[in-house]
Amino acid sequence: MSERACPVVLAAPSGTGKTTLAHRLVGGSDSYVFSVSATTRGQRSGEVDGEDYNFVDRAGFEAMVAGGELVEWAQVHGQLYGTPWSELERAALRGEHVVLDIDVQGARQIKAKIADAKLIFVLPPDVDTLMGRLTGRGSETPETVARRLRTALEELQVVEEFDYVVVNDELERCLDEIRAIAAGHVEPTGTDGALEWAMTLRREISRILAEQYAEYANTHP
Ligand code: 5GP
Repeated sequence: MSERACPVVLAAPSGTGKTTLAHRLVGGSDSYVFSVSATTRGQRSGEVDGEDYNFVDRAGFEAMVAGGELVEWAQVHGQLYGTPWSELERAALRGEHVVLDIDVQGARQIKAKIADAKLIFVLPPDVDTLMGRLTGRGSETPETVARRLRTALEELQVVEEFDYVVVNDELERCLDEIRAIAAGHVEPTGTDGALEWAMTLRREISRILAEQYAEYANTHP
């Protein structure tokens, strides 16, 4: 590969489609590998242990932290998630871009430790798409959806900390943009337009949460 390999960090509000983006970047390419995180969360149907995540119990995770095995880790939705150093080292040795699908707390830690990492924040094109993706998983209850929306609200506040902001409006276009960023062909984005878009999304999510709350209050007088 002629371009310089580096870690590519994808962070986004949950339901933005970033996991799909990460898997598409890696699929069928020998230039990109997926960083397999360790997590204490339960395995979802269709997920493969060792490919999607390394599923570990809390004690196992804490042992990894104590042993200095994780480059970053964070608690997300009440579960622990972390990136092993070994994932970054293996990719660097092979000259491959390693794709990290992690939350914003983890992205911050990577930015502080890994100078050549490319931090990319992915925004959904609209709230309906976001809601569709959140509820479309089927495995989510209304409470879980509300929790994820509240997390999304918090996550949208940190857009300005990221070097690059892309909108996942069209999968192929978005993938091309991410590949160009990874290859070093794109200057860090001025985030002005993206910031405004993130604010609009926040207002919309707040409105939906307020509606959900009003509905709950009406049905549970
Ligand atoms: P999910 O449980 O839906 O797979 O992931 C929940 C959130 O945890 C997502 O935002 C995902 O990107 C994030 N996540 C997954 N792996 C890691 C990791 O290794 N570190 C951090 N900080 N977040 C992660």
